[in-house]
Amino acid sequence: MNTVIPPTAGKRIVVIGGGFAGINFVKEMRYTPYQIVMIDRHNYHTFQPLLYQVATAGLEPDSISYPLRRTLSISEDFIFRVADVKNIVPEKNYIETTLGDIEYDYLVICTGSKTNYFGNKRLEKNTWPMKSVPEALNLRSMIIQNFEDALVADAETRKALMHYVIVGGGPTGVELAGALAELKKNAFRSDYPELDLAEMQIWLAEADNRVLAAMSPQASQKAREYLEKMGVKVMLGTKIEDYDGENLVYNSGQTVKASTVIWAAGVAGNFLSGLHADAVNRGGRIRVDAYNTVVGYDNIFALGDVACMESEELPRGHPMLAQVAIQQALNLAENLDRDSDMKTPFRYKDLGSMATVGKNRAVVDLPHIKFQGVFAWFVWMFVHLLALVGFRNKFITFVNWVYSYMKFDKGIRLIIRPVQRRREESIVPPTPSPSQSNLS
Ligand SMILES: Cc1cc2nc3c(=O)[nH]c(=O)nc-3n(C[C@H](O)[C@H](O)[C@H](O)COP(=O)(O)OP(=O)(O)OC[C@H]3O[C@@H](n4cnc5c(N)ncnc54)[C@H](O)[C@@H]3O)c2cc1C
Repeated sequence: MNTVIPPTAGKRIVVIGGGFAGINFVKEMRYTPYQIVMIDRHNYHTFQPLLYQVATAGLEPDSISYPLRRTLSISEDFIFRVADVKNIVPEKNYIETTLGDIEYDYLVICTGSKTNYFGNKRLEKNTWPMKSVPEALNLRSMIIQNFEDALVADAETRKALMHYVIVGGGPTGVELAGALAELKKNAFRSDYPELDLAEMQIWLAEADNRVLAAMSPQASQKAREYLEKMGVKVMLGTKIEDYDGENLVYNSGQTVKASTVIWAAGVAGNFLSGLHADAVNRGGRIRVDAYNTVVGYDNIFALGDVACMESEELPRGHPMLAQVAIQQALNLAENLDRDSDMKTPFRYKDLGSMATVGKNRAVVDLPHIKFQGVFAWFVWMFVHLLALVGFRNKFITFVNWVYSYMKFDKGIRLIIRPVQRRREESIVPPTPSPSQSNLS
């Protein structure tokens, strides 16, 4: 076996993924006698809730990314490697990675989720996802390139270039639509005086009968009102039947020409191959018991988006949220550090949810109170600033937000890496695809 990690006299825990679950688990394990090995395909942690601000020129990518080595170099027996994990070999307690094989005593899978196109290859090829920093940067380039191209396009092409469709009215779709509407109102109006900004149309298509369906009806209603006030066309009960990169067909049969369709309509678990078929459900999530132990194994655990703790109360598991990932990580760390008969089952404490809709507007649902408007927006900003990893990121984000607030401007309208309209021709290397399914 090709061993890429120095041997240890004690027990080794291998953690795959440095997202919310991975970093919180490792931080919590720092005073334990285990050797901790973390593997991630990137050398940084991504704060996904603010990806939409990178895509709409509100924040630099560095503000929402943080070097994993810096976050985690807190214990002497901590080893980090950048590698893509390809497969798990549970019978022999090792994983196969792009660096070679790595043995474990305990394995903690925190590989998050991936964009779900529900098997539609045309949508996968022609729409824009926003699940990683490179994807958000692609989107930023595309949005600005559209405007540069529109300046020299004929009337029909210009209309298509300025027609944006966002698919999915969850928090990502709503926040993105609000931020695009802000770009239109403030930055693009002054950047492109030669263009008629009335031609820029932002459509938000949602299959459900309300946006933010996971939040309260008040939050949904208010978010929709805010969006419509900002000029976003909200289409409820609407699905995308087909999109060839130019012509988009809605389930109503209506066809429109749109150059940019952004896919924010679904995620699936980002599981790894090698586990037995019963351990993975139809949503690509790994089945775990109340202690986050993967069903059928006693030394493999899964946390966060990729884990599905099915119960009578929650037949489809917990929502894919940062707080679930963090709380599961802390619970597992506590359990691994305890005697086996003192383990605590996981109980999710819902701290509430929130979404912002452009400047000065947000909706907040807390366990005992729901509110919307300017105060909600300040609460949203405060919570997100606190949650960002690292003082530098908090500080830079704060300064950026204050600057944008005072100047009504989003200062990062740069095409640093141009992208091709068709994603397979992109000059940006795509994120490595997740491992193959072992589901039959
Ligand atoms: C656009 C967007 C907005 C969101 N907004 C919110 C919000 O407002 N509030 C909220 O609570 N949640 C939000 N979420 C969800 C939240 O970000 C996730 O629930 C959270 O990131 C899950 O944490 P995790 O640790 O399970 O996975 P992730 O944070 O996704 O981390 C997974 C890690 O695993 C690594 N990885 C994956 N596969 C491999 C492999 N094969 N080999 C090596 N490394 C691998 C990845 O590089 C990554 O670092 C949002 C998500 C998105 C995409």
